[in-house]
Amino acid sequence: MFSEGARKHYSFPGCTMYDCIVLGAGIQGSFTAYHLAKCGKKTLLLEQFPLPHTRGSSHGQTRIIRKAYPEDFYTNMMQESYQLWAELEKDSGTKLYRNTGLVVWGPAGNHELEKICKNLENYQIPWEHLSQEAMKQKYPGISLKPGEVACWDTSGGVLYADKALKAVQECFLRMGGTIHDNEKVTHIEPGPMITVTTTTTSYSAEKLVITAGPWAQKVLTPLGLQLPLKTLRINVCYWKEKNPGRSDILASSPCFLAAVSGEEHEIYGLPSQEYPGLIKICLHGGNEAEVEERDLVVEDPKVKDISILCRFISNYLPDLHPAPAVVEQCMYTVTPDQNAILDHHPLHKNITIGAGFSGHGFKLSPLIGKILSELCTGAPPSYDLKPFQITRFK
Ligand SMILES: Cc1cc2nc3c(=O)[nH]c(=O)nc-3n(C[C@H](O)[C@H](O)[C@H](O)COP(=O)(O)OP(=O)(O)OC[C@H]3O[C@@H](n4cnc5c(N)ncnc54)[C@H](O)[C@@H]3O)c2cc1C
Repeated sequence: MFSEGARKHYSFPGCTMYDCIVLGAGIQGSFTAYHLAKCGKKTLLLEQFPLPHTRGSSHGQTRIIRKAYPEDFYTNMMQESYQLWAELEKDSGTKLYRNTGLVVWGPAGNHELEKICKNLENYQIPWEHLSQEAMKQKYPGISLKPGEVACWDTSGGVLYADKALKAVQECFLRMGGTIHDNEKVTHIEPGPMITVTTTTTSYSAEKLVITAGPWAQKVLTPLGLQLPLKTLRINVCYWKEKNPGRSDILASSPCFLAAVSGEEHEIYGLPSQEYPGLIKICLHGGNEAEVEERDLVVEDPKVKDISILCRFISNYLPDLHPAPAVVEQCMYTVTPDQNAILDHHPLHKNITIGAGFSGHGFKLSPLIGKILSELCTGAPPSYDLKPFQITRFK
């Protein structure tokens, strides 16, 4: 991804001391490194795989962005996150966001749906209530059931994930940051100066940020910390139109989230992007699996995700074939309350942890990076971090 010339120019040959080291160059670590470099810290971003790679949680072309959240703190945080995405678009000269709008639907009176509408209202974010009939007019390809209603978040849309990751890493390099990819961290020696050993060499720094995605627990166990993190294998499914070009579902689909009666997990969808003629629709959940088991294309007996999706497509999107045309794999790292962990290591205060983004962290990543950089440098946090503290699990 980066030419040798560019790397030599921006790194410090022979120098193994940094102000801050960030472990893991997914979207969270990359934005953390970017914010640290922005405030003048000499920062090293370490990544175990050659970049770009598809083995973590941040790859792929698209992610949903939205302000529609049942938790008011996320609706609030997303306002700044949108601004930071726009700044990155400007700094990198790359289009990273497409505004498609986002529909959330579910049974009338659904508690989460009501909280979403209330939060959008309270934060004066433009939104609309859509009845079953109004949905039919606006999106004939989506067939709500009697008694179901929708909320239309006008700010919702698509983030171009791979482009975003590349853009933030390039901006970090331009600010004087250093990236060493293909270098796995094998040992961390805590102390006032932390020593980080990799498959290549050792580095020292006053501060370390760990953003290891689905590998987080593997990195934290030797540091004496067990967190309630689970890794889930997600089947990313793409669905084909029955009559190509004859329905409007591909051309004008919004992003959507659906809370379906009788199903435990939400279902989400994005307009066609990755594969012409196919639309991405997935279950927000999956089966527990070790990160090394991600490529097993099996339907676990516990969460029958693909069967649930086939049923959903038949019921709600009848213009699509109710069998996936493409299935890919990705990993979620989830916490019990689906809120991330943004905190210091309880015993080593110069180690900051960002983990457990629970399948919804991409849209927040510019702000997560800012918050992790504040925790790392000791700057006052911009937000109340109680929902993200480790002590909440006790
Ligand atoms: C299928 C899917 C759909 C999603 N959809 C959305 C969405 O629509 N909207 C949204 O907001 N979010 C979404 N998310 C969530 C979002 O993508 C993740 O929250 C986010 O990408 C997590 O980023 P991360 O940096 O924490 O993890 P990762 O991207 O996994 O990065 C961690 C990095 O650490 C590196 N690493 C680990 N251990 C070591 C080591 N020892 N040494 C060196 N490097 C190491 C890894 O190689 C990896 O590159 C989705 C996720 C998935 C899987």
